Amino acid sequence: MWGFGLFSPDMAIDLGTANTLVYVKGRGIVLSEPSVVAYHVKDGVKKVLAVGEDAKLMLGRTPGSIEAIRPMREGVIADFDVAEEMIKHFIRKVHKRSWPKPKIIVCVPHGATPVEKRAIRQSVLSAGAKRAGLIAEPIAAAIGAGMPITDPTGNMVVDIGGGTTEVAVLSLGDIVYARSVRVGGDRMDEAIISYLRRQHNLLVGESTAERIKTSIGTARMPDDGRGQTMMIRGRDLLNGVPKETEITQAQIAEALAEPVQQICEAVMSALEATPPDLAADIVDRGVMLTGGGALLGELDLALREQTGLAISVADESLNCVALGTGRALEYEKQLRHVIDYDS
Ligand code: ADP
Ligand code: MG
Repeated sequence: MWGFGLFSPDMAIDLGTANTLVYVKGRGIVLSEPSVVAYHVKDGVKKVLAVGEDAKLMLGRTPGSIEAIRPMREGVIADFDVAEEMIKHFIRKVHKRSWPKPKIIVCVPHGATPVEKRAIRQSVLSAGAKRAGLIAEPIAAAIGAGMPITDPTGNMVVDIGGGTTEVAVLSLGDIVYARSVRVGGDRMDEAIISYLRRQHNLLVGESTAERIKTSIGTARMPDDGRGQTMMIRGRDLLNGVPKETEITQAQIAEALAEPVQQICEAVMSALEATPPDLAADIVDRGVMLTGGGALLGELDLALREQTGLAISVADESLNCVALGTGRALEYEKQLRHVIDYDS
């Protein structure tokens, strides 16, 4: 039995709209790759060409015969078959042997429908899991951010992912309120694309927009009205030729104002919908931001200014959900009630 006993192959998976992370029990996060699948399409037959990092490089750069898909894009599952291929690929990448069969816990958005939950469970089982458990994403995010979710106090966690922002209030280990809005990193990228098109007659692709966002993106107008600058390349819409332009942080702040405002509104409406005593706890304890979107420059400050609440960004915000799901796996005895094994 030596060898196998050392590391249990049990896994926790964060199936995100932008990134998929796999946590292996006793080892931690072992895989973190974009949730993208590239297909070769020939005579109507689809063949997987690349998954994850390699597939993301192909997004927006594919010839007619290749299709790069983000199966989780629209918040939950936009394409079931592709999602299943992707889940299987990542599980096999981490656990190459067929024995022992792992137990796998996957986190799902709070708003996932029963059909979506069943599809995820099925994909995991057909990838060779002996048991498939689900955990609600806000709970996983809060555990991963180190929040005391089992205490009898209100805790608010705001997970800003690629496709959605999930705002949730937790108390005594369960969800009191949760709402998902379709605003996240993708919407920010789109806002940058449309701003550059409108204001600069410049056409840029999604990966350029994402790069602008992660390098100089900010949720707040810089104090000097300009901030840092960045040279970007795109296509001039007036004459169709490539063009290089300098853009400022102030311009990006303007471009991102709407999605940032929508995130603020989601936080405020969650607070309004929260029972008064729990809302008072949140006013005392503040709000925790998780997910990649939480890394947008000065988002915490902008949210604080607009909501009046204390806002913190979780350590390792991109990893919180995977770490929280992993923790539920490690401490299953204590956290058994947050995992759903059959429904
Ligand atoms: P999901 O859970 O939906 O897969 P993630 O939590 O992994 O999403 O976050 C991915 C999103 O975070 C992407 O839209 C990405 O562009 C964005 N992101 C990552 N780093 C930054 C950053 N430094 N600033 C702003 N956005 C970021
Ligand atoms: Mg996520």
